[in-house]
Amino acid sequence: MANIGETTLEIDLSALEHNYRYLKSKISDSTKFLGVVKAFAYGSDMVAVAKKLESLGTDYLAVAYVKEGVLLRESGIKTPILVLHPQPMNFELLIYYHLEPSMYSPRILKRFLETAERLQTTDYPVHIKFNTGLNRLGFWENDVEYIMQHLEGKTAIKIVSIFSHLAASEDSKEKAFSLNQIECFTKIAKSLDQLLGYKPFRHMLNTSGILNYPEAQFEMVRSGIGLYGYGNSAAIDAQLKPVANLKTVVSQLHKIEPNESVGYNRAFTSDGYKTTATLPIGHADGIGRQYGNMKGSVSINGKPAPIIGNVCMDMIMVDVTGIECKEGDEVLVFGASSSAEQFAASAKTISYEILTAISSRVKRVLIDP
Ligand SMILES: *Cc1c(COP(=O)(O)O)cnc(C)c1O
Repeated sequence: MANIGETTLEIDLSALEHNYRYLKSKISDSTKFLGVVKAFAYGSDMVAVAKKLESLGTDYLAVAYVKEGVLLRESGIKTPILVLHPQPMNFELLIYYHLEPSMYSPRILKRFLETAERLQTTDYPVHIKFNTGLNRLGFWENDVEYIMQHLEGKTAIKIVSIFSHLAASEDSKEKAFSLNQIECFTKIAKSLDQLLGYKPFRHMLNTSGILNYPEAQFEMVRSGIGLYGYGNSAAIDAQLKPVANLKTVVSQLHKIEPNESVGYNRAFTSDGYKTTATLPIGHADGIGRQYGNMKGSVSINGKPAPIIGNVCMDMIMVDVTGIECKEGDEVLVFGASSSAEQFAASAKTISYEILTAISSRVKRVLIDP
Protein backbone atom coordinates (compact mmCIF):
# COMPACT_ATOMS: atom_id res chain seq x y z
CA MET A 1 0.00 0.00 0.00
CA ALA A 2 1.15 3.54 -0.74
CA ASN A 3 2.55 5.57 2.15
CA ILE A 4 -0.35 7.39 3.80
CA GLY A 5 1.60 10.72 3.70
CA GLU A 6 -0.03 12.35 6.72
CA THR A 7 -1.77 11.42 9.95
CA THR A 8 -4.64 9.12 8.98
CA LEU A 9 -7.12 6.86 10.70
CA GLU A 10 -7.69 3.88 8.44
CA ILE A 11 -11.02 2.19 8.98
CA ASP A 12 -11.00 -1.40 7.86
CA LEU A 13 -14.56 -2.45 7.04
CA SER A 14 -13.54 -6.05 6.33
CA ALA A 15 -12.30 -6.24 9.94
CA LEU A 16 -15.71 -4.90 11.02
CA GLU A 17 -17.41 -7.66 9.02
CA HIS A 18 -15.14 -10.30 10.57
CA ASN A 19 -15.95 -9.04 14.10
CA TYR A 20 -19.68 -8.88 13.36
CA ARG A 21 -19.66 -12.50 12.17
CA TYR A 22 -17.59 -13.59 15.17
CA LEU A 23 -20.00 -11.96 17.64
CA LYS A 24 -23.01 -13.38 15.80
CA SER A 25 -21.46 -16.86 16.08
CA LYS A 26 -21.56 -16.45 19.88
CA ILE A 27 -25.33 -15.93 20.04
CA SER A 28 -28.25 -18.04 18.91
CA ASP A 29 -29.73 -17.52 15.44
CA SER A 30 -32.95 -16.20 16.92
CA THR A 31 -31.25 -13.54 19.07
CA LYS A 32 -31.35 -10.07 17.55
CA PHE A 33 -28.14 -8.07 17.22
CA LEU A 34 -27.78 -4.35 17.97
CA GLY A 35 -24.62 -2.58 16.79
CA VAL A 36 -23.58 0.34 18.99
CA VAL A 37 -22.31 3.20 16.81
CA LYS A 38 -22.34 6.05 19.33
CA ALA A 39 -19.45 8.52 19.51
CA PHE A 40 -18.70 8.32 15.76
CA ALA A 41 -18.70 4.53 15.93
CA TYR A 42 -16.12 4.51 18.72
CA GLY A 43 -14.11 7.24 17.03
CA SER A 44 -14.07 5.74 13.54
CA ASP A 45 -16.74 6.79 11.00
CA MET A 46 -20.33 6.45 12.19
CA VAL A 47 -22.04 6.60 8.81
CA ALA A 48 -19.68 4.16 7.07
CA VAL A 49 -19.87 1.71 9.98
CA ALA A 50 -23.66 1.97 10.22
CA LYS A 51 -24.03 1.39 6.47
CA LYS A 52 -21.78 -1.65 6.63
CA LEU A 53 -23.69 -3.08 9.61
CA GLU A 54 -26.99 -2.42 7.84
CA SER A 55 -25.73 -4.28 4.76
CA LEU A 56 -24.67 -7.18 7.01
CA GLY A 57 -28.19 -7.34 8.42
CA THR A 58 -27.94 -5.88 11.91
CA ASP A 59 -31.40 -5.72 13.54
CA TYR A 60 -30.80 -2.49 15.43
CA LEU A 61 -28.29 0.32 15.82
CA ALA A 62 -27.76 2.44 18.94
CA VAL A 63 -26.43 5.91 19.55
CA ALA A 64 -26.15 7.92 22.75
CA TYR A 65 -27.77 11.18 21.64
CA VAL A 66 -30.50 12.33 19.28
CA LYS A 67 -28.17 14.30 17.03
CA GLU A 68 -26.16 11.17 16.32
CA GLY A 69 -29.34 9.40 15.22
CA VAL A 70 -30.35 12.37 13.05
CA LEU A 71 -27.01 12.15 11.23
CA LEU A 72 -27.61 8.46 10.53
CA ARG A 73 -31.13 9.05 9.20
CA GLU A 74 -29.92 11.94 7.02
CA SER A 75 -27.34 9.54 5.58
CA GLY A 76 -30.09 7.14 4.55
CA ILE A 77 -29.92 4.56 7.35
CA LYS A 78 -33.28 2.77 7.63
CA THR A 79 -32.47 0.29 10.44
CA PRO A 80 -34.25 0.94 13.76
CA ILE A 81 -32.09 3.20 15.94
CA LEU A 82 -32.21 3.13 19.74
CA VAL A 83 -31.20 6.44 21.37
CA LEU A 84 -29.72 5.49 24.72
CA HIS A 85 -29.63 8.87 26.43
CA PRO A 86 -32.00 11.41 24.87
CA GLN A 87 -32.95 14.76 26.43
CA PRO A 88 -36.49 16.19 26.41
CA MET A 89 -35.52 19.24 24.34
CA ASN A 90 -34.86 16.85 21.41
CA PHE A 91 -37.97 14.66 21.65
CA GLU A 92 -39.76 16.30 18.71
CA LEU A 93 -36.71 15.93 16.53
CA LEU A 94 -36.40 12.32 17.66
CA ILE A 95 -39.96 11.56 16.56
CA TYR A 96 -39.52 13.46 13.30
CA TYR A 97 -36.55 11.21 12.43
CA HIS A 98 -38.23 8.08 13.73
CA LEU A 99 -35.60 7.32 16.34
CA GLU A 100 -36.52 5.10 19.28
CA PRO A 101 -35.88 6.56 22.73
CA SER A 102 -34.70 4.91 25.90
CA MET A 103 -37.06 5.86 28.71
CA TYR A 104 -34.72 5.98 31.67
CA SER A 105 -36.61 7.83 34.39
CA PRO A 106 -40.09 8.94 35.45
CA ARG A 107 -39.33 12.48 34.23
CA ILE A 108 -38.27 11.25 30.80
CA LEU A 109 -41.29 8.97 30.41
CA LYS A 110 -43.68 11.75 31.39
CA ARG A 111 -42.08 14.29 29.07
CA PHE A 112 -41.89 11.87 26.15
CA LEU A 113 -45.51 10.84 26.56
CA GLU A 114 -46.54 14.52 26.51
CA THR A 115 -44.62 15.10 23.28
CA ALA A 116 -45.95 11.93 21.63
CA GLU A 117 -49.55 12.83 22.54
CA ARG A 118 -49.12 16.38 21.27
CA LEU A 119 -47.80 15.00 17.96
CA GLN A 120 -50.63 12.44 17.92
CA THR A 121 -48.49 9.36 17.45
CA THR A 122 -49.86 5.85 17.81
CA ASP A 123 -47.84 3.03 19.39
CA TYR A 124 -44.60 5.01 19.06
CA PRO A 125 -41.83 2.49 19.93
CA VAL A 126 -40.01 3.14 23.21
CA HIS A 127 -37.51 1.09 25.22
CA ILE A 128 -37.61 1.04 29.00
CA LYS A 129 -34.25 1.07 30.73
CA PHE A 130 -33.97 -0.53 34.17
CA ASN A 131 -31.16 0.07 36.61
CA THR A 132 -30.07 -3.24 38.14
CA GLY A 133 -26.85 -2.15 39.80
CA LEU A 134 -24.82 0.13 37.54
CA ASN A 135 -26.62 3.07 39.18
CA ARG A 136 -26.21 5.30 36.16
CA LEU A 137 -29.48 5.54 34.20
CA GLY A 138 -32.74 3.68 34.53
CA PHE A 139 -35.93 3.02 36.39
CA TRP A 140 -35.68 1.05 39.60
CA GLU A 141 -37.35 -2.31 40.09
CA ASN A 142 -40.10 -0.75 42.20
CA ASP A 143 -40.96 1.78 39.45
CA VAL A 144 -42.85 -0.90 37.47
CA GLU A 145 -46.14 0.19 39.01
CA TYR A 146 -45.43 3.84 38.26
CA ILE A 147 -44.77 2.96 34.62
CA MET A 148 -47.99 0.97 34.37
CA GLN A 149 -50.05 3.75 35.94
CA HIS A 150 -48.67 6.27 33.45
CA LEU A 151 -49.31 4.06 30.44
CA GLU A 152 -52.84 3.05 31.48
CA GLY A 153 -55.15 3.77 28.57
CA LYS A 154 -52.46 5.52 26.52
CA THR A 155 -52.03 4.68 22.86
CA ALA A 156 -49.41 7.27 21.86
CA ILE A 157 -46.46 5.09 22.84
CA LYS A 158 -45.73 1.39 23.06
CA ILE A 159 -43.04 -0.44 25.02
CA VAL A 160 -41.24 -2.57 22.44
CA SER A 161 -38.32 -3.62 24.60
CA ILE A 162 -36.95 -3.42 28.10
CA PHE A 163 -33.26 -3.46 28.88
CA SER A 164 -30.56 -3.13 31.48
CA HIS A 165 -26.77 -2.86 31.49
CA LEU A 166 -24.13 -4.86 33.36
CA ALA A 167 -21.69 -2.98 35.57
CA ALA A 168 -18.72 -5.36 35.30
CA SER A 169 -19.37 -7.87 32.51
CA GLU A 170 -15.64 -8.16 31.71
CA ASP A 171 -14.60 -8.87 35.30
CA SER A 172 -14.72 -12.51 36.44
CA LYS A 173 -14.25 -11.37 40.06
CA GLU A 174 -17.65 -9.68 39.82
CA LYS A 175 -19.48 -12.74 38.52
CA ALA A 176 -21.80 -12.94 41.54
CA PHE A 177 -22.74 -9.29 41.08
CA SER A 178 -23.42 -9.76 37.36
CA LEU A 179 -25.54 -12.87 37.95
CA ASN A 180 -27.51 -10.92 40.53
CA GLN A 181 -28.13 -8.15 37.98
CA ILE A 182 -29.32 -10.74 35.44
CA GLU A 183 -31.67 -12.30 38.00
CA CYS A 184 -33.06 -8.91 39.00
CA PHE A 185 -33.69 -8.00 35.34
CA THR A 186 -35.39 -11.34 34.66
CA LYS A 187 -37.71 -10.70 37.61
CA ILE A 188 -38.56 -7.17 36.45
CA ALA A 189 -39.33 -8.46 32.94
CA LYS A 190 -41.68 -11.11 34.31
CA SER A 191 -43.68 -8.71 36.40
CA LEU A 192 -43.91 -6.15 33.59
CA ASP A 193 -45.00 -8.82 31.06
CA GLN A 194 -47.83 -9.85 33.35
CA LEU A 195 -49.09 -6.32 33.83
CA LEU A 196 -48.76 -5.40 30.14
CA GLY A 197 -50.31 -8.59 28.80
CA TYR A 198 -47.58 -8.93 26.13
CA LYS A 199 -43.82 -9.47 26.13
CA PRO A 200 -41.53 -6.64 25.04
CA PHE A 201 -38.20 -8.08 23.88
CA ARG A 202 -35.39 -8.02 26.43
CA HIS A 203 -31.68 -7.14 26.19
CA MET A 204 -28.88 -6.79 28.67
CA LEU A 205 -25.51 -7.89 27.27
CA ASN A 206 -22.73 -5.69 25.91
CA THR A 207 -19.66 -7.21 24.19
CA SER A 208 -18.13 -8.78 27.31
CA GLY A 209 -21.58 -9.87 28.41
CA ILE A 210 -22.05 -11.76 25.11
CA LEU A 211 -18.77 -13.56 25.69
CA ASN A 212 -19.13 -14.22 29.43
CA TYR A 213 -22.88 -14.60 30.04
CA PRO A 214 -24.37 -16.07 26.83
CA GLU A 215 -27.17 -17.59 28.92
CA ALA A 216 -28.47 -14.04 29.45
CA GLN A 217 -28.70 -13.05 25.78
CA PHE A 218 -32.53 -12.87 26.01
CA GLU A 219 -33.98 -11.66 22.67
CA MET A 220 -31.23 -9.19 21.71
CA VAL A 221 -27.61 -8.27 22.52
CA ARG A 222 -25.83 -4.91 22.17
CA SER A 223 -22.25 -4.83 21.00
CA GLY A 224 -19.91 -1.89 20.57
CA ILE A 225 -16.25 -2.48 21.38
CA GLY A 226 -16.25 -6.03 19.97
CA LEU A 227 -17.33 -4.75 16.58
CA TYR A 228 -14.31 -2.46 16.60
CA GLY A 229 -11.96 -5.34 17.38
CA TYR A 230 -11.48 -5.35 21.15
CA GLY A 231 -12.94 -7.76 23.69
CA ASN A 232 -11.55 -6.73 27.07
CA SER A 233 -9.37 -9.86 27.21
CA ALA A 234 -6.25 -10.99 25.36
CA ALA A 235 -7.89 -14.30 24.38
CA ILE A 236 -10.84 -12.54 22.74
CA ASP A 237 -8.67 -9.85 21.17
CA ALA A 238 -6.84 -12.67 19.38
CA GLN A 239 -10.12 -13.64 17.69
CA LEU A 240 -11.06 -10.10 16.64
CA LYS A 241 -9.55 -7.67 14.15
CA PRO A 242 -8.98 -3.99 14.98
CA VAL A 243 -11.03 -1.77 12.68
CA ALA A 244 -9.10 1.45 13.33
CA ASN A 245 -5.44 1.84 12.37
CA LEU A 246 -3.93 5.16 13.42
CA LYS A 247 -0.96 6.00 11.23
CA THR A 248 1.32 8.97 10.85
CA VAL A 249 4.68 9.78 9.26
CA VAL A 250 8.18 10.86 10.28
CA SER A 251 8.33 14.63 9.65
CA GLN A 252 11.91 15.25 10.75
CA LEU A 253 14.83 13.35 12.29
CA HIS A 254 17.26 14.96 14.77
CA LYS A 255 20.62 13.90 16.17
CA ILE A 256 20.67 14.75 19.88
CA GLU A 257 23.88 15.06 21.92
CA PRO A 258 24.24 13.91 25.54
CA ASN A 259 22.56 16.25 28.07
CA GLU A 260 20.44 18.01 25.44
CA SER A 261 16.75 18.32 26.15
CA VAL A 262 13.78 17.64 23.87
CA GLY A 263 10.44 19.42 23.85
CA TYR A 264 8.50 21.80 26.07
CA ASN A 265 9.64 22.32 29.65
CA ARG A 266 12.76 20.30 28.71
CA ALA A 267 10.95 17.26 30.08
CA PHE A 268 13.36 14.83 28.37
CA THR A 269 17.13 15.03 28.79
CA SER A 270 19.27 12.70 26.77
CA ASP A 271 21.82 10.48 28.51
CA GLY A 272 23.75 9.78 25.30
CA TYR A 273 23.78 10.22 21.53
CA LYS A 274 20.18 9.78 20.34
CA THR A 275 18.14 10.03 17.20
CA THR A 276 14.65 11.44 17.57
CA ALA A 277 11.74 11.62 15.13
CA THR A 278 9.13 14.36 15.21
CA LEU A 279 5.64 13.17 14.21
CA PRO A 280 2.65 15.31 13.08
CA ILE A 281 0.23 14.15 15.78
CA GLY A 282 -0.38 15.60 19.24
CA HIS A 283 -2.88 16.12 22.01
CA ALA A 284 -5.22 18.02 19.65
CA ASP A 285 -5.44 14.79 17.64
CA GLY A 286 -6.28 12.75 20.73
CA ILE A 287 -2.87 11.61 21.98
CA GLY A 288 -3.16 12.95 25.53
CA ARG A 289 -0.25 14.21 27.59
CA GLN A 290 -0.43 11.05 29.71
CA TYR A 291 1.19 9.17 26.80
CA GLY A 292 4.30 11.39 26.99
CA ASN A 293 7.52 10.87 28.92
CA MET A 294 8.14 7.26 27.82
CA LYS A 295 4.66 5.95 28.64
CA GLY A 296 3.32 5.30 25.13
CA SER A 297 5.28 4.05 22.12
CA VAL A 298 4.58 4.01 18.41
CA SER A 299 5.86 1.48 15.92
CA ILE A 300 8.28 2.44 13.14
CA ASN A 301 9.35 -0.20 10.63
CA GLY A 302 8.18 -2.81 13.12
CA LYS A 303 10.20 -1.45 16.07
CA PRO A 304 8.82 0.31 19.18
CA ALA A 305 9.75 3.99 19.48
CA PRO A 306 8.83 5.54 22.88
CA ILE A 307 7.33 9.02 23.09
CA ILE A 308 9.88 11.26 24.80
CA GLY A 309 9.20 14.49 26.66
CA ASN A 310 5.84 16.21 26.74
CA VAL A 311 3.16 15.64 24.10
CA CYS A 312 2.67 18.92 22.18
CA MET A 313 -0.61 20.10 20.63
CA ASP A 314 0.36 19.08 17.09
CA MET A 315 3.45 16.91 17.55
CA ILE A 316 5.14 14.18 19.48
CA MET A 317 8.82 13.32 19.51
CA VAL A 318 9.86 9.69 19.67
CA ASP A 319 13.19 7.99 20.31
CA VAL A 320 14.27 6.14 17.16
CA THR A 321 17.87 5.47 18.24
CA GLY A 322 18.89 2.20 16.60
CA ILE A 323 15.77 2.02 14.41
CA GLU A 324 16.38 2.16 10.70
CA CYS A 325 14.10 4.89 9.41
CA LYS A 326 14.07 8.05 7.34
CA GLU A 327 11.96 11.19 7.02
CA GLY A 328 8.67 10.39 5.32
CA ASP A 329 8.50 6.82 6.68
CA GLU A 330 5.15 5.53 7.87
CA VAL A 331 4.49 5.21 11.62
CA LEU A 332 1.84 3.05 13.29
CA VAL A 333 0.44 4.54 16.50
CA PHE A 334 -2.00 1.66 17.04
CA GLY A 335 -3.91 -0.84 14.94
CA ALA A 336 -3.82 -4.37 13.67
CA SER A 337 -0.22 -5.20 14.59
CA SER A 338 0.06 -3.04 17.72
CA SER A 339 -3.23 -2.82 19.50
CA ALA A 340 -5.09 0.20 20.82
CA GLU A 341 -5.63 -1.79 24.00
CA GLN A 342 -1.85 -2.01 24.61
CA PHE A 343 -1.35 1.61 23.67
CA ALA A 344 -4.12 2.65 26.07
CA ALA A 345 -2.74 0.43 28.83
CA SER A 346 0.61 2.25 28.58
CA ALA A 347 -1.18 5.33 29.93
CA LYS A 348 -3.39 3.36 32.35
CA THR A 349 -6.56 3.75 30.32
CA ILE A 350 -8.70 1.50 28.10
CA SER A 351 -9.22 0.96 24.37
CA TYR A 352 -12.63 2.69 24.54
CA GLU A 353 -11.00 5.96 25.60
CA ILE A 354 -8.15 6.14 23.08
CA LEU A 355 -10.41 5.05 20.19
CA THR A 356 -13.04 7.70 20.88
CA ALA A 357 -10.40 10.39 21.56
CA ILE A 358 -9.07 10.58 17.99
CA SER A 359 -10.20 14.04 16.98
CA SER A 360 -11.98 15.17 13.82
CA ARG A 361 -8.75 16.76 12.59
CA VAL A 362 -7.44 13.28 11.76
CA LYS A 363 -8.36 12.23 8.24
CA ARG A 364 -10.51 9.09 8.03
CA VAL A 365 -9.84 6.72 5.16
CA LEU A 366 -12.08 3.74 4.53
CA ILE A 367 -10.60 0.42 3.53
CA ASP A 368 -13.29 -1.73 1.98
CA PRO A 369 -11.69 -4.35 -0.23
C1 LIG B 1 -22.00 1.76 25.02
C2 LIG B 1 -23.04 0.77 25.44
C3 LIG B 1 -23.00 -0.57 25.00
C4 LIG B 1 -21.83 -1.15 24.24
O1 LIG B 1 -20.88 -1.66 25.16
P1 LIG B 1 -19.55 -2.39 24.64
O2 LIG B 1 -18.83 -2.75 25.91
O3 LIG B 1 -18.81 -1.39 23.83
O4 LIG B 1 -19.97 -3.57 23.84
C5 LIG B 1 -24.07 -1.38 25.30
N1 LIG B 1 -25.13 -0.92 26.02
C6 LIG B 1 -25.16 0.34 26.51
C7 LIG B 1 -26.34 0.76 27.32
C8 LIG B 1 -24.12 1.22 26.25
O5 LIG B 1 -24.17 2.47 26.75
